[in-house]
Amino acid sequence: MSENIEFTPLATSDPLDDEQPITTSTSATTRKPNPHSPKHNSLAAQIERLGDMAISGLGPVLISLAFLLLSVTIFCFYSVFLPFHHPWNEGKGISGNLAYIFHWIWATYLVWGILGNYYLAVRTPAGSVIDGVSSSGDAMFQDILGEMQSYTALPPTCKRCHLPKPERAHHCSVCKKCVLRYDHHCPWIHNCVGHFNHRYFLMFLTYLPIACVYFIIMGAGPFMLAADASSESNWPYWMDRSLVAFSEVLAVAIGVAVGGMGIWHWYLALTAQTTLEQYNNAYMKKICKKRGETFTNMYDFGIIGNFQDVFNIGPRGRYPWYTALLPIRVPPIGNGKRYERSGRGYVLDFGEDDEDMV
Ligand SMILES: [Zn+2]
Ligand SMILES: [Zn+2]
Repeated sequence: MSENIEFTPLATSDPLDDEQPITTSTSATTRKPNPHSPKHNSLAAQIERLGDMAISGLGPVLISLAFLLLSVTIFCFYSVFLPFHHPWNEGKGISGNLAYIFHWIWATYLVWGILGNYYLAVRTPAGSVIDGVSSSGDAMFQDILGEMQSYTALPPTCKRCHLPKPERAHHCSVCKKCVLRYDHHCPWIHNCVGHFNHRYFLMFLTYLPIACVYFIIMGAGPFMLAADASSESNWPYWMDRSLVAFSEVLAVAIGVAVGGMGIWHWYLALTAQTTLEQYNNAYMKKICKKRGETFTNMYDFGIIGNFQDVFNIGPRGRYPWYTALLPIRVPPIGNGKRYERSGRGYVLDFGEDDEDMV
């Protein structure tokens, strides 16, 4: 049983992402792996590389598809759903069209939230160790280490990109670099979800399911009308009825899928864990339980503290609280290379033999 409260940065269960201790006297160029090694040329490694290339190539296609589907459903709402429930009363002015205006503002806010956060999630680099470092070779190595000054010992180095690996960072084989506070690589945004775009990704997963629920409710009537073959002549809308029916079905499918993802990512955000860390933490919890002790995530500042961390608001952040409701560019707290710790973290002393287990 260990009384040691010191925590080592979390490693991952990816066997290809193993780490090696830093030897600062060796230049970055001499740390390159041998391309003729059996591991490098193994069938599994080649299949993985092909998979990464496919995911990378698929990115722009999926982004285009997402914009196409969003455009169809947005157009469907404004041209069919809204006039179906609240047709604009000509000559009655604003006071005679309050319901129309209310729904228009609410829907436009949701559209802004979806498109704004999606754009920011796609366009904002997740963050890597070389961000803000203009030097190269050993100087770059030292500069990166300098930005990770909270470490009391030398951090591990990534065996793939051969650079110091900050806490919570992980190598993305699609982006071919270590990503800060790596969560996962998302082909739908053709980008990693990491330190600098996590907020936008999370908010996209929030606005989209809310919009789907609203869309499904507003679309129920038009969907029934569109599906009713006997009402062929009673369809005054420009948009084809089959496209309207498709939009409604799509909203149900997307709402369920993205809603589930959204709930999961909110759980992770409010417990201060990335997807990878959650697996490690679950494992550590099990080990602690066996030892009769309680595991605590050292990045966890409680639900309210974690919420403030995600949005960089409140006493822990720098921005006013209302910015959490706006799809605008708000940088996260810190540079992503070191993180404040709650001081409650408990780390197991696995010993060298257990290194590969976490
Ligand atoms: Zn790396
Ligand atoms: Zn990536």
